Amino acid sequence: MSFRVGLGTDIHRLQEGLPLLLAGVRIDHSHGLVGHSDADIVLHAVTDALLGAAGLGDIGEWFPDTDPQWKGADSSLFLTETVKALREGNWAIGNLDIVIHAQKPKLLHYKPTMKQNLSRWLQIEESSINLKAKTGEQVGPVGRGEAMEASVIALIYQTET
Ligand code: MG
Repeated sequence: MSFRVGLGTDIHRLQEGLPLLLAGVRIDHSHGLVGHSDADIVLHAVTDALLGAAGLGDIGEWFPDTDPQWKGADSSLFLTETVKALREGNWAIGNLDIVIHAQKPKLLHYKPTMKQNLSRWLQIEESSINLKAKTGEQVGPVGRGEAMEASVIALIYQTET
């Protein structure tokens, strides 16, 4: 059996009055993330971690933010397309460890729904998905509330070639 790991990160700017989506969950907050698509940093970082693990490049190559097709796009589409590509290479997802860097709001009670969404789109058990939330300790773009960031590591494995 062969194993691969991949790393994905994403950062988007916060702006007052925009909707905030994290792992497909609408979060109640005064600010939302600015982006060409729906700016869901969690889904973007997960997509990049999986593409990286499979040696398939990055999200910008697959879904360019200059392409009008992806304007306002639901980022779960990036994820489900990536899962399809992995399947074609006989890759299965082992586990994901996800860190969301956000000064506010507290994300604890959104975690179960985030996991449910990821589990559905990735077609893996919720127990294979770990979610962590960290503040920016009031320093840097995250700590000053100017941006949110996500970091993800993913393990994939191939049972046949
Ligand atoms: Mg992004």
